[in-house]
Amino acid sequence: MILHVDMDAFFASIEQAINPRLKDKPLIVGSRGNKMRTVVCAASYGAKRMGIHSGMPSREAFRICPELEFVPADQSKYIWTSEQIFELLKGYDLPLKYASIDEFQLEVSGCPDPLNLAKNIKAQIYANFNITASVGIAKNWILAKLASKLNKPDGLTVIGAGNFEQVLRQTPLDKLCGMGGKTGANFMASGMKTCWDLYLNLPGFFEISENANIGESYHNSGKPGENPGKSDELPKSVSHSYTLPQVKINPQVIRAWIRLLSEMVATRLRQQDLVSQTVHLWLNGPQIGGFGAQKTYQWATSDGQEIYQRAVKIMAKLAPKSPGIRAIGVTCSSLSKAIYQPLLSEDVRREGLIKALDRINNRFGEGAIHPAITILTR
Ligand SMILES: [Mg+2]
Repeated sequence: MILHVDMDAFFASIEQAINPRLKDKPLIVGSRGNKMRTVVCAASYGAKRMGIHSGMPSREAFRICPELEFVPADQSKYIWTSEQIFELLKGYDLPLKYASIDEFQLEVSGCPDPLNLAKNIKAQIYANFNITASVGIAKNWILAKLASKLNKPDGLTVIGAGNFEQVLRQTPLDKLCGMGGKTGANFMASGMKTCWDLYLNLPGFFEISENANIGESYHNSGKPGENPGKSDELPKSVSHSYTLPQVKINPQVIRAWIRLLSEMVATRLRQQDLVSQTVHLWLNGPQIGGFGAQKTYQWATSDGQEIYQRAVKIMAKLAPKSPGIRAIGVTCSSLSKAIYQPLLSEDVRREGLIKALDRINNRFGEGAIHPAITILTR
């Protein structure tokens, strides 16, 4: 038996909880600061009721509702709150899984009264964070997750033997997790409309999910930000350096080399499923001799472009000005396992792009597709 906790309009609710002026107003959280030129990454229920949803250009949201309140996304706030909720749920001493930044699953088979537990969890979350959660309870995670969505916000829904058929008949197929994309479209093209149609055609679908989820993926320890027992196995750093055949003075060419090395480091990070917070740039030239400086950022990354931008900032701000560079090195350290899914819609798209580029380079050889600037290194 799984109890699935799904926070309601998580980012928007956090902003409203922190700023009472925003409470009960239609609000969007934007991916970026410019309110007219960004994408909605979360909408409050007030905004949702008007048809505003995440992924929508903010300009369109403001066209629907000119009085809309706007807050730029603050990921650190959301991650902090998510980790605090995880800590709270850990207190129940049941197998617990961090499903996403705003979803948590508890294995409650051994619990005498899951319904009461759910009420308690909802009350605790509200008391501590002034935001609401919807809870679903069912025999496996896919049904529990579906249940959590059925009576949002502030819902509590059980799918059991008594209402299984009725609920599945009433629920359009695309509400089911994993049915939003191609799989769902294929099923719907073959005539299935509701979850019940899927059950009639593939009764095993709802059973398989049960076995797939119970077992190793549940654990009792460790915060989402930690990787217990694994931390000493992580490499300390990943780096690449290159000595140029002669001293280069063209700043574009030097940046091209930094980009190439950043991409190489980033590829190796991604191969090991790592992200890095610290970038170290090393330069060597006839006038500056050896120079090295590093900067640590709050956000861990494995994106070559981001690493490059960080390295270039270090060069612009800290490196002695000199016309000639003979050798360059880029090192990434403060490594951790990549555990967070990207939160903002731009980042989701960016991650999709990086994955596609990795697939192309895996198939046709590293560098088969590369940032345009690195052509200057050839
Ligand atoms: Mg949610």
